Amino acid sequence: MKDTLKHRGMRNKLAEVLVDKGITSPQVLSAIKTIPRHLFMDSSFEGHAYQDKAFPIAADQTISQPYTVAFQTQLLGVRAGHKILEIGTGSGYQTAVLLHLKAKVYTIERQQELFKKTKLLFGKMGYRPKKTIFGDGYKGLPEDAPFDSIIVTAGAPEVPKALMSQLKIGGRLVIPVGIDDQIMTLYIRKSEKEFEMHQYGSFRFVPLLENKN
Ligand code: SAH
Repeated sequence: MKDTLKHRGMRNKLAEVLVDKGITSPQVLSAIKTIPRHLFMDSSFEGHAYQDKAFPIAADQTISQPYTVAFQTQLLGVRAGHKILEIGTGSGYQTAVLLHLKAKVYTIERQQELFKKTKLLFGKMGYRPKKTIFGDGYKGLPEDAPFDSIIVTAGAPEVPKALMSQLKIGGRLVIPVGIDDQIMTLYIRKSEKEFEMHQYGSFRFVPLLENKN
C-alpha cells in the first residue's frame, strides 16, 4: 500500500471536518493531515480511511474514530519530549499521532495478534515508540513511571488505581470511563494525593479488559 496525493487531499478534508467539530490544536491537526491512516487499517477499508469513523481491525477490536483520537490527544496537552503511556496500542494510529507530536511513547496491547502485527507495522513505517509492550495495561508500567500523561484508548469500567499512581505531579490521565458507553474523563494530578477531575462528552469504546493475559 502507498500514500498518494489523493490520500493527502482526503486527510486535509478530514482535518477540516475535525475543525468543524471543535478540534483547535494546530499540532493535532497537523498530525491528522500527515499520518496515512489508511496504512493502519485493513486494505478492504482503505477507501473509507478518511471518514470520521471507527473501523474494525484484527481480533474484534477497532481503530478509534479520528475525532476521538484528536479529542483525547488535545486533552493530553502533549509537549515535545513528554513521556506518555498509551494503554491499547490497537492499530497503532493513536501511537503515530503521539509520535508526530514528538512524545516519547510507551504503548501496551493485550491482544497478541494485534501486538505482533502493529509492532511489525511500526518497524516498516519507521515509527519508533520507546517501548511496544505485550501485556495488561491495567497495571500500567511501574518500571518506567512516572509519566507526563497517560492515555487509555479502551472503555474502562473503573479508573485503574495503578494509572493514577504512575502520573507525575501536574500529569494528565485521559480515560473513557463507563460500561456500555463512556464519559471522557481527564484527571490532573495536583499533588501526591489530590486529583482534579473534568468530564467531557459521551463516547463508545471497546472494553478495557483486566487480568486477561
Ligand atoms: N488506539 C487504538 C485503539 C484500539 S481499540 C487505535 O486507534 O487503533 C482498544 C485496544 O485496547 C484494543 O486493541 C484492545 O485489545 C486493547 N486493550 C483492552 N484492554 C487492554 C488492557 N488491559 N491492556 C492493554 N490493552 C488493552
